[in-house]
Amino acid sequence: MVLAEIKKITYKINTVILILVFCLMAFFALCKATFLVWFSIPTAGVYLIGYYLISKDDLYSYVRMVYGWLTLYMSITTICLGYRFGFHLYCMSMIPIIFYTEYMAFQLKTNSINTTLYSVFVIIAYLVSTGYSAYMSPIYDVDSRIAGAFWLFNALVVLGFVTFYSRLLIKMIIASEKQLSERANRDRLTHLYNRHYMMEQLKEAYADDKVYYIAMLDIDNFKSINDKYGHLAGDEVLRKVALIMEDVCKDCIVSRWGGEEFLILTTEGAELIEKLRRAVEDMVIEFEDQIIKVTLTAGVELKNKDIKFNKWIVAADEKLYIGKNSGKNRVVS
Ligand code: GH3
Ligand code: MG
Ligand code: MG
Repeated sequence: MVLAEIKKITYKINTVILILVFCLMAFFALCKATFLVWFSIPTAGVYLIGYYLISKDDLYSYVRMVYGWLTLYMSITTICLGYRFGFHLYCMSMIPIIFYTEYMAFQLKTNSINTTLYSVFVIIAYLVSTGYSAYMSPIYDVDSRIAGAFWLFNALVVLGFVTFYSRLLIKMIIASEKQLSERANRDRLTHLYNRHYMMEQLKEAYADDKVYYIAMLDIDNFKSINDKYGHLAGDEVLRKVALIMEDVCKDCIVSRWGGEEFLILTTEGAELIEKLRRAVEDMVIEFEDQIIKVTLTAGVELKNKDIKFNKWIVAADEKLYIGKNSGKNRVVS
């Protein structure tokens, strides 16, 4: 999320809370809870200052001020009206929100509030206000039916909040883990799988009972392409070759093994790799008004559990070497 989006959401939340403060102020006036009516004035002031802080991009001060005041507001209403109103329940939803703020600050690369300190403050405020109401009768005596309706409303809001935030956090964790593992397994230039990921796949395939082939492929005379057209053109060739590999070998695992070498794991044999070789041979790469043509050589080796895992890759490499020494642009199987 970018700062502009967070500001937009914060403006909306600020407005909702401000409206709520005025509604509650009217309710307190009806109940003749004079102190709470007066207390609503600085509360509204806090949210008005909130608009200013958001507009100045000072979300750090906004969060500190609002979290602190909200906790105070919940404690004072609980002491004045008793915990039957359920205002103290908001402390429960404050804690996940406090930690979510830390995550947001991390995302925006800005200062974070001291989450542990704020949580301890909320816990103390909760214990003091509910502890007080457990032993002392409320300062303002309000009809218990109204208190019950408030409790139900507040409990629903708090439970909804806690569920929403827990869901949001877990979704974000899963999404970020997926993104990280995808990044760790992919090559940056070609977006093909990298050698590390391919090694894991090869080990699994070796242990499996299915028929598997590997093809070790190497672009021919790639050094001279770099020399003639430049390194950026060489990079473009690697990207285009990678694309065509994925296109021709749809059901395979295609990896960049290193430099201009690729390794493909497939259940199909040399015919598929021959099809790929021809596709690369026919391919015309355009780069900055230049036309580049490339070919590749491949060595294909069938899995054989009678020989060791490492030998499988070595055997494919040896066949590639034979191809290179017998004129290149060919598939040896
Ligand atoms: P052969 O036909 O025998 O494979 O010859 P070759 O020139 O392709 O092989 P050689 O090993 O001599 O050269 C490979 C070149 O690939 C050297 C290296 O600079 C280049 N290379 C490796 N990785 C990259 C890369 O990511 N981008 C570019 N542009 N070049 C790369
Ligand atoms: Mg090469
Ligand atoms: Mg090479």
